[in-house]
Order: sequence, then C-alpha cells, then structure tokens
Amino acid sequence: MEVILRILIFAIALYGLSFLFIYSHNKNVQAIKYSSNMVIKKQVVKVAQIVGARPQFIKYSPISQAIDRFNSSGKVIENILIHSGQHYDYTMSDIFFNELGIKEPQYHLGVGSGSHGIQTGHILQRAEKVLLKEKPDLLLVYGDTNTTLGGALAAVKLLIPVAHIEAGLRSYNKYMPEEVNRILTDHSSSVLFCPTEAAVENLRKEGFRFMVNEGKPLDRNFNLSSYAAHLTNPLVFNVGDVMYDALISSVEIATEKSHILENLDLAQKEYSLLTLHRAENTNNCEKLEGIIDFVNDVSAGKTVIFPVHPRAINALNLTRKTFADNVKQIKPVGYFDMVWLLKNSARIFTDSGGLQKEAYWLKIPCITLRDETEWIETVQSGWNILYRDYKGTHNPSDTDVFLYGNGKAAEKIVDIIVKYEDRLFS
Ligand code: UDP
Repeated sequence: MEVILRILIFAIALYGLSFLFIYSHNKNVQAIKYSSNMVIKKQVVKVAQIVGARPQFIKYSPISQAIDRFNSSGKVIENILIHSGQHYDYTMSDIFFNELGIKEPQYHLGVGSGSHGIQTGHILQRAEKVLLKEKPDLLLVYGDTNTTLGGALAAVKLLIPVAHIEAGLRSYNKYMPEEVNRILTDHSSSVLFCPTEAAVENLRKEGFRFMVNEGKPLDRNFNLSSYAAHLTNPLVFNVGDVMYDALISSVEIATEKSHILENLDLAQKEYSLLTLHRAENTNNCEKLEGIIDFVNDVSAGKTVIFPVHPRAINALNLTRKTFADNVKQIKPVGYFDMVWLLKNSARIFTDSGGLQKEAYWLKIPCITLRDETEWIETVQSGWNILYRDYKGTHNPSDTDVFLYGNGKAAEKIVDIIVKYEDRLFS
C-alpha cells in the first residue's frame, strides 16, 4: 500500500512539473513572438509562392535569390514553389527556369490551357490541396494572371494571408481579364507590394488606408510598430518593381551570353521589336487587323522581329490581314535573348506590360498596342505612346531612375515578410 502511495505521489509531482515546463515554454514563445518588431520571431517562416506564366517566372527570380541570400545567414525562410502549369511548353516556361537558375517547383498543378473558368477553377481547387497540406504562413502571388487569382482565392478562403507582388496596378478597363484578376487579388490580400507611387494612389482610391513608402507610413496617425495586418486592415508598401531588379541583373549576362543578333543577322538599332498577346487584341479580329495595318504602315519596310506568343498564333490565322514581309515571325525567346533584342532595338511595338517598362529602363521608344496602359509613368515621360495617339515621333524627357524603385524591391519584400510575418492574420 505504501509503495502504491509513493508511486502515486511521484506521478502527481511529475505531472505538475511537466505542466509547469510546458506552460513556461509556451510563455517564452509568446514573449519572443511579441517582444520587438526588429527581432526575427520565428525560426522558420514558411512562404508558399505560386507562379504559372512567363512574366511570373521572371518576377519570381529576384525574390528567390533574395530568399537564398537571406537564408545564407541562417535558415529562416522555407520557400515552397507551386507552378500552376498555365504556361507549360519549353519556350514559355522551362527556358526561364533553366536560364534564371530557378529551382524545380515542389508542386506542379498541371492546369494547361483552357477557358478562364476552367483555368482559374482548376488552379483554385489544386492550389487548395497544396495549401492544406503545407499550411504556409503566407502565400505570395504575382501580377495579374489566372494563376494569381486562383492562388489568392484558394489561400484567402483557407484564412492563409495573401501577399500580392505588383499590387495596385489599374488600367480602369474592366473588360480586360487581367484587370479583374488584379482587383480581386488586391482585395483578397493582407499585404500589398506596389511597384510605384501611382499604384499606391490607386489603392488609396479603393479604400486602402495603411500605406508605407520607403519604410515611412504615409499617414501620421498610423503606428506601424504596433500594426497587425489582416484582410480588413491590409498593409500597402511601395517597394519598387521586381522586374527592374530582374532586368538590372540580366543586362550584363545578356551582353555576354546572347547571340541572337548574329543568329538573326541583325545590326544594332536597325530593327524594331514586336510582341502581341493580350486577349483584348488576340480575341478581336477587327482590332488585330487594325494593329497589323498600323505596324505594317509605321515600320515602312524596315525589319521588325516578332517573337510570337502561342496565344497569337491562332488569332493571326483567323484574320484576313497579314503582316508584311519585313515583319519576321520567330518563336518566343528566352529572357537573356529578349533583353539583348530589346537593348539593341530602335523601337518597340507591344501590348505587354513588362516590355513597356523594360523599354523605358533601357531608353528605347515604345509604341503600346492598346487603348490604355497601367504604366502611365512611361507615357508621361514621353518614352511610351499609345498607338492611336502616335503621330510619327516620340518626345522623351530623361528617364527617372527611381520611378520604379532602386533595383532592390525583392530584398525589401523579403525583409518585410520576415519582419511582419507574425503580425499577419488573414
Ligand atoms: N519575354 C521573353 N521572351 C519573349 C517575350 C517576352 O523573355 O519572347 C519577356 C519580356 O522581356 C518581359 C516578359 O517576358 O520580361 C513579359 O511577358 P509577357 O509580355 O508575356 O507578359 P506581361 O508583361 O504582359 O504580363
């Protein structure tokens, strides 16, 4: 009997001690978590990222490099990459992973081509499974594609905070599928990373209130150090453009590696470059024919290099008009060849968002084949002009080197994620 009593007393003491240990340990975790906003609060921040289209691979590249640099000082960010499969062939996807040294995605959703509903729906459904399994602290989404929206919707409905890179862009044309994707993604996000001041202002007009520019809150009454960001209190940062980061680090490599001018027998500044892929142009025969006439007319027999986006192939087969012989159609090219083609061109014709900015950064006059643009700064500076306004010349002022940040947008984004992660609630 005495032995049993002793065992009982020992068991109760052991239970009490373990309770005390667990309690004090939990208290420590809390104390570490909320003590100071400058200290890294968790050993590992688990970030999931979803990409799926060509420009997203390019935007992801500086972010993944910034994460690697950060992790080399002690592993902190766990990076889970999800590829939706929206772009899937070699020239639209693999080449960017190979050239930019991007590691294989841990998940491939394999959605492929399809209508907006099918693509977005499949991404939403398949991303949800991955997010449920991985339970990341945050989902990073990029730009304005169906991958962006599908990923953001999957996360926000699981109460996983969404951070949107390239937030706040607006064309104010809701007939563009990209515009719908942008608006819905911005309004599903807890943290919004804007590339420009204009983007921050667009979000302010839509009711976003908590803005931070270069580390400083734009509203004096807003105390950043005690701020908890969540869906009803999203936080907006102007960090600059990750595509500018990507371009800066690629020009030198392109100079060394690209042989595209020799391969295509092109002389510097003796050719123009054309890209065309927006649904508003490829899905509208009349518009496409107007663009074909315009490019044939303005290029006046001089060489135009046209890497053809897969979406444009069908559309071009359906039109009654054709590009003139001076417009040379080639397969889409890798990023370094594209940068080299851009840098050495005399002029750009494009409906691409990325190319309008790349033209500006490389000081190449651009004619945008659209009725409006989100990148209004490039138009205001005179380097970019909408094709309907084109009167034969460009009147560029100098470029403002800091308009799109200082080439360290990715680093700023990673710093912010680490600094604010534990103050993020979906
Ligand atoms: N790009 C490329 N190869 C090409 C065409 C474009 O590497 O054949 C790059 C371009 O330099 C820019 C990005 O792809 O960095 C833009 O992608 P896209 O025009 O498809 O999309 P958007 O920018 O309109 O979202």
